Amino acid sequence: MVKIIDGKALAAAVRAEVATDVAAIKADGGRICFAAVLVGDDPASQIYVRNKQKACEKAGIEFTLHTLAGNCQQRQIVALLKKLSQDKTVNGILLQLPLPATVVGRDEMAAINAIDPQKDVDGLTNVNLGKLANRTADLVPCTAQGVVHAITSVCPDLTGRNVVMIGRSRIVGRPTALLLENLNATVTVCHRSTRDLTEHTKRADIIVVAAGHPNLLTAKMVSRGAIVIDVGINRLPDGHLVGDVDFANVAKKAAAITPVPGGIGPLTIAFLLRNVVTAYRGQHSLQNH
Ligand code: ADP
Repeated sequence: MVKIIDGKALAAAVRAEVATDVAAIKADGGRICFAAVLVGDDPASQIYVRNKQKACEKAGIEFTLHTLAGNCQQRQIVALLKKLSQDKTVNGILLQLPLPATVVGRDEMAAINAIDPQKDVDGLTNVNLGKLANRTADLVPCTAQGVVHAITSVCPDLTGRNVVMIGRSRIVGRPTALLLENLNATVTVCHRSTRDLTEHTKRADIIVVAAGHPNLLTAKMVSRGAIVIDVGINRLPDGHLVGDVDFANVAKKAAAITPVPGGIGPLTIAFLLRNVVTAYRGQHSLQNH
């Protein structure tokens, strides 16, 4: 019987831990505050930001939203991120991605790097991704943490496991591959130019898919007993939300699988909250409290 990994339940447990940590910070007289920057009025981005706001408020973290018009100048985004970085009342900063194509002089990476690395709760600045590559990271990208949490809920020790990571984006694939390798898995990264995806996936104990294509991973590509983690979020023309995995058929062969929705999505938000607490502690040098 396949185990459906319940991302919502796992996320609820992480969020409860975070709420306890936040309560302790407040009991000590601290204030913990998260600032989100939203550029433009893309409905999906608005929903993502609203979900983060709700999650923060539930955990007792103050939330402030800073908006800019979709046709603003890149330098306005950079100026806002620098201002928030200098603001001592702000502990965590998130720039909602992707930036709209209409931003004048759009340079997403330059915008991200305007965030103080100590407040970079998405873990995406050059400094934090560099630390992850050097195995000294404290703020690790939230989705990568969510993926590892989902895997370790069914397979606690990754040592020597063959993992195939499909996708190498800056936000998901690459940091996830680094984190898995840091946990002693043997990681193969596949991407658009990979010649024969099946050749790799067939040999995998664990497959993580983050490519943005419905049904990219089908049952014939998966060996019996594999763990399958679906990071994809695709909206079909009929409005349905699906991942990158042919869930119904892959579930018949896998030992464990994450659903979409209700898998990695809720875990990503939970680890964003965890990162806000980690950032706060870093700024107050409480890491080893
Ligand atoms: P995300 O932000 O969800 O990671 P991106 O669109 O930024 O999504 O990145 C998609 C990634 O998926 C890229 O690294 C790309 O090489 C990979 N990818 C896309 N299509 C395929 C495919 N057919 N086979 C393997 N990898 C793919």
